[in-house]
Amino acid sequence: MIIGVLALQGAFIEHINSLRESYKALSFEFNGHKETTNLDSKLETNNLTKLQIVEIRQLKDLEKIDALVLPGGESTVQGKLLKELGLLKPIKERIESGMPVLATCAGLILLAKEIENEKDCHLGTFPIKVVRNAYGRQLGSFVTTANVGAIKDFPLCFIRAPYVKECLSKDVEVLSVVDDKIVGVKYKNQIGLAFHPEMTTDKRIHEEFLKLVLENCKNRTSNKLAS
Ligand code: GLN
Repeated sequence: MIIGVLALQGAFIEHINSLRESYKALSFEFNGHKETTNLDSKLETNNLTKLQIVEIRQLKDLEKIDALVLPGGESTVQGKLLKELGLLKPIKERIESGMPVLATCAGLILLAKEIENEKDCHLGTFPIKVVRNAYGRQLGSFVTTANVGAIKDFPLCFIRAPYVKECLSKDVEVLSVVDDKIVGVKYKNQIGLAFHPEMTTDKRIHEEFLKLVLENCKNRTSNKLAS
């Protein structure tokens, strides 16, 4: 499986490290052996369960990816670069055709269909309305603990975070709420988080995402074989 991490700006290195770490932790489940070192040489034989990470900077980087991570950073900068590099439309199409995506903070803003006090959205694939910098500019960083879907007591790190003010489809599943504000959502193949799971040592969210991507790859392979 090949996971693309948007690498135009923001916390993409942290996501890459988190994916690698989570992959090692899951190696037994994925590949039936316990070793957590020299994974690559052992997994050469199985392309599906082998993890490859591609930094997305230009159109051709998108070609082979099975899933995408949209990191935190500054959504206005990221959105502008996506547009200038001709990446906005192709990414939107891939997401709409079912590619799994994990978006954190600015990434969540990029996905949102509506952004409060802004005329335009960016990718607009996620039927939610978000509020940017919702906790104030300087006092906007804090850590708390909450459940994220089935994951109990996850450390949530917020940095000038947005929150979800409104779900615009009944199919949006709320994963996490902090102080009466929605901060984690899922819609079909898209997971959007207002906080930064890549900034903590708890890797359960990245592990769950890897499982989802693998499941999606397997389904696509078996559909291809069946047709
Ligand atoms: N405040 C940023 C924005 O609006 C998001 C902050 C973050 O990604 N940590 O894009």
